[in-house]
Amino acid sequence: MVDVRSSLLDLQSYVPGRKSPGAVVLASNECPYGLLPNVAARLAELTGGLSRYPDMGATRLLEALAARHGVSPDRIAVGAGSSEVCGQILHTVCEPGSEVVFGWRSFEAYPILTTVAGGVPVRVPLRDHVQDLAGMAAAVTPRTRLVFVCNPNNPTSTPVDEAALRAFVDRMPGNVLIAVDEAYHEYADPSVVPDALALFGDRPNVVVLRTFSKAYALAGLRVGYCVGPPEIIAQVRKTQTPFSVSALAQEAAIAALGEHDEVDRRVALTVAERDRVTAELRALGYDVPRSQANFLWLPLGRDSAPFAEHCHGDGVIVRAFPGEGVRVTVGLPEENAAFLALAGTWRERR
Ligand code: PMP
Repeated sequence: MVDVRSSLLDLQSYVPGRKSPGAVVLASNECPYGLLPNVAARLAELTGGLSRYPDMGATRLLEALAARHGVSPDRIAVGAGSSEVCGQILHTVCEPGSEVVFGWRSFEAYPILTTVAGGVPVRVPLRDHVQDLAGMAAAVTPRTRLVFVCNPNNPTSTPVDEAALRAFVDRMPGNVLIAVDEAYHEYADPSVVPDALALFGDRPNVVVLRTFSKAYALAGLRVGYCVGPPEIIAQVRKTQTPFSVSALAQEAAIAALGEHDEVDRRVALTVAERDRVTAELRALGYDVPRSQANFLWLPLGRDSAPFAEHCHGDGVIVRAFPGEGVRVTVGLPEENAAFLALAGTWRERR
């Protein structure tokens, strides 16, 4: 038997959303509207170049992102989804045994990627479904190298506000990197959820993560990025698996950035549906925290797994976190209606 790293033996694997032909899929926080029109057209043109390696420096994509955010390209690192970028950030700062602090529950990749990077996950319980930034600051020790703040938080959909985030960043020792994960930024109300890029653009120890997997409808092509100080970004880039962002992914992301109006239109539809589904669930008697993302959190405790099975039985796939809650992606209006009908029949049976 080969010796494998002991820290992997008890590590829980990432659980992808279920797939089932013909089912309503509300489990993975994807965009329900399909590829953006420009993206589909650009991808159709590209097949000729695929026998060559992609541009490892992602030059045109970095330029497009730099223009989008009003920063220089040396402040951006890209990866195969923001999951890979999370891993790169961890590999940039973790020595064996370094501590990485995050709220829990939060994005399930944080403990996995931390462990894979040789770090030690430090999970700080949420308070009322919200990240406890004071508790997270108190969990920092001389061994801490990185803190993830997921804003809004997956899977609870809740944000931390500007005052709390500012106080937290001000309190963090200068040697600890703060990664603000804004995967759901586009769905958030800017008067409620701070834009960390605008707030902390000049801080030497803050990076901000964004992804093309949600509002830009490119989950299947894998593109994410982080924006931060050039000195950190230069090190993050060294940790990328060579050529991990494919040629198709780079071109699709550039085309997607040109689709402002359609992205805004879809986000508005999703936000309106989110608020409608929230109101209907509350009217049915469900406790639903106000969401700032493209999904809802139903803290159903020990009913979580049976509730999800009830939905799956009728072809609607949601994500259960057994014993805690159920996360439901906001889909198309008819998909949301199918889910609401099941939420109604579940209540009637109780
Ligand atoms: N961060 C958060 C908070 C997420 O929820 C997700 C996706 N579920 C990601 C990062 C990663 O997304 P991707 O790798 O597709 O960019």
